Amino acid sequence: MDLFSLKGKVAIVTGGNSGIGLGMARGLADAGATVALAARTVDKSRKVAGEIESSGGKAFAVECDVTSGESIEAMVQATLDHSGRIDILVNNAGTNIRKEPEELTYEEWRFVLDTNLDSAFRCSTACLPAMIEAGGGKILNNGSMLSIFGSSWGAPYAASKGGMVQLTKSLAIAWAKHNIQVNCFLPGFIDTPLTQTARQQLEGLNEKVLARTPADRWGSPDDFRGLAVFLGSQASNYVTGTAIPVDGGFSVNLI
Ligand code: NDP
Repeated sequence: MDLFSLKGKVAIVTGGNSGIGLGMARGLADAGATVALAARTVDKSRKVAGEIESSGGKAFAVECDVTSGESIEAMVQATLDHSGRIDILVNNAGTNIRKEPEELTYEEWRFVLDTNLDSAFRCSTACLPAMIEAGGGKILNNGSMLSIFGSSWGAPYAASKGGMVQLTKSLAIAWAKHNIQVNCFLPGFIDTPLTQTARQQLEGLNEKVLARTPADRWGSPDDFRGLAVFLGSQASNYVTGTAIPVDGGFSVNLI
């Protein structure tokens, strides 16, 4: 028995066309899953799906805006129409608006919460019937170091990512009866388009990250391939409700 095989399984990765989501999509496809890349920029998703297919994996693009319930329902239906089942959901799509709390509008607050946290609730409940039908499932929620720490420039982001950890625990408890395992992972500082803007906006960020990260480097999307396979496969069947740092040791380093 190959504990890590995902042959015959179908996965949805929100934000699967870029950064961490793409790293996870590649890992899931390497292990044999068919992967739906769900994001707004469908041309980019198609291009990336083509790259996965040319390296021997199975992937397809689904247009989805995770802030819209209708769009999420359509994404689930498109995945079922294409592949007939849903076994794995990676709630990865996310955004950030870096401002001090008093400079944020309520609309900006809501935009970050809707994109990062409400979306995970909506996508998870939308996939639930298909996972029950499949006899079980795996939900992987993308948190952050701001699931643990706070930041003056990240109030809505930190609230959303702290909420991901608590949502994870509650879904894990509620859906254990359906053989669905729900886990969160907490990326450290990963080199993606999202953090390339952070490096421009926050002076000294690069140096601070390197000084505190025992691994002495930023993470890369490829660092999430193995985690996706572990949390998406039967190898993790007794692991649920957790929040696993993937941070090169950042969160355990006092100074
Ligand atoms: P990227 O900018 O590379 O990826 C963000 C992805 O989210 C894109 O695929 C984007 O696709 C998608 N996305 C954004 N908004 C929506 C939306 N409304 N509907 C559907 N898809 C959407 O950044 P990262 O890979 O860095 O970020 C991915 C996740 O990782 C986020 O949740 C982020 O908070 C988290 N994270 C990242 C860290 C890092 O250091 N990079 C650290 C901790 C957490 P499109 O624009 O086509 O819709």
